[in-house]
Amino acid sequence: MLDKRFVLENAELVQQNCVDRGVKADVSRFVELETQRRTLLQEAEDLNRQANEVSKSIGKAKDDAEREARKEEGRQLREAKDAKQSEVDRVGLEADRILRGLPNMTHPESPRGDEAASHELRKGESKPPKFNFKPLDHLALAEQHDLIDFEGGSRVSGNGFYYLRNEAVLLEFALQRYALDRLMREGFTPTMTPDLARNEIVQGIGFIPRGPETQIYSIENSDLNLVATAEITLGGLHAGQVLDESQLPIKLAGVSHCFRTEAGAAGRAGRGLYRVHQFTKVEMFAFTTPDQSEDMHNLFLELECEIFDGLGVPFRVLDIASGDLGGPAYRKFDLEAWMPGRGQGGEYGEVTSTSNCTDYQSRRLDIRYKKPGEKGTHFVHTLNGTAVACGRAMIAILENCQQADGSILVPEVLRVYVGKDRIGAPD
Ligand code: AMP
Repeated sequence: MLDKRFVLENAELVQQNCVDRGVKADVSRFVELETQRRTLLQEAEDLNRQANEVSKSIGKAKDDAEREARKEEGRQLREAKDAKQSEVDRVGLEADRILRGLPNMTHPESPRGDEAASHELRKGESKPPKFNFKPLDHLALAEQHDLIDFEGGSRVSGNGFYYLRNEAVLLEFALQRYALDRLMREGFTPTMTPDLARNEIVQGIGFIPRGPETQIYSIENSDLNLVATAEITLGGLHAGQVLDESQLPIKLAGVSHCFRTEAGAAGRAGRGLYRVHQFTKVEMFAFTTPDQSEDMHNLFLELECEIFDGLGVPFRVLDIASGDLGGPAYRKFDLEAWMPGRGQGGEYGEVTSTSNCTDYQSRRLDIRYKKPGEKGTHFVHTLNGTAVACGRAMIAILENCQQADGSILVPEVLRVYVGKDRIGAPD
């Protein structure tokens, strides 16, 4: 959520930002409502003050008639104040609804435009492999080596669910452990988070918990939701708290399942593990001071690059354009890995995403920090980034590491966890 005062003082800038981000919002209506709310609030406070003065004067009335008259006057003033307060609340609610719908401001260097305007910042160390055979996609490889049972998943839980089997299970754990080990060396605290979170936390992070358009599965008869990402549970961890400046930055490496309805996202490009309803992810999350957040965002990006360079997976880094930033991100970088089985002859597919959300989420979740010797508090900045989303990382590994003999080479950095060098060849 943006700062009310900032919106009031920069209405044109905020409106232009909404246009840049493709968000429909009426900023001038917000300004009108908020100005009206402030006037009404002043009037309500005046009425309250007058009612208090009348109450105090009752004791000084010279006779019963005057006492009764003053009581009546006080009653009428209080009634008027209550009516005014209801107006304040009604107008405030409408203003708040607009405010909550406004996206974060945008980093000056983020490209302006829709998805197509996102531009490549750089490539990873590995080059797309040149095969002297016709490479298979991850579905065919998974079938050949009995790694993923989509059919069983579909029968038991529906389309978009699957069972991992054999070396796919080992790869799933290996990827998590590889990412965690790297993040722990960087001072992240390994954290296993709940897979469910309350409505207010889900909303505070920027997701819509219920409704036809939502990405979120909600649990009936409760205010709980299955998390779409550990960003929700990690960000919610300090909701309503005031941290000490000396605690910052807090760097967490969260492991969770992620559940997504993927409403309206059918299509061939999402086949197999690419777009599923449940996957496991190691997520980076940080609470920082405003001064620290840009460096932290660069660190998240470096770690993502290091993790995928380590896996030997070719990738490119995109600086995401304003129209594709969503609500909370001030700036976002995605890694897209080369997937030889995607499209006709291979395509890049998103494997990670890291966002600097500045104080957008912390305002909604009320997460502040205190500087030593200062009375007031400040909102922290929050950042998130995918260290590894197991499903998509597995696609990239299976498809890039396939060999002419049909086997799949396990990336060197994972061998210690998987316990073998190759899938599908005699040990
Ligand atoms: P997001 O939280 O939407 O930025 O997603 C983080 C990462 O999770 C993406 O970069 C993907 O690697 C992965 N991901 C997102 N949605 C899905 C999905 N439906 N199925 C599989 N992986 C996904």
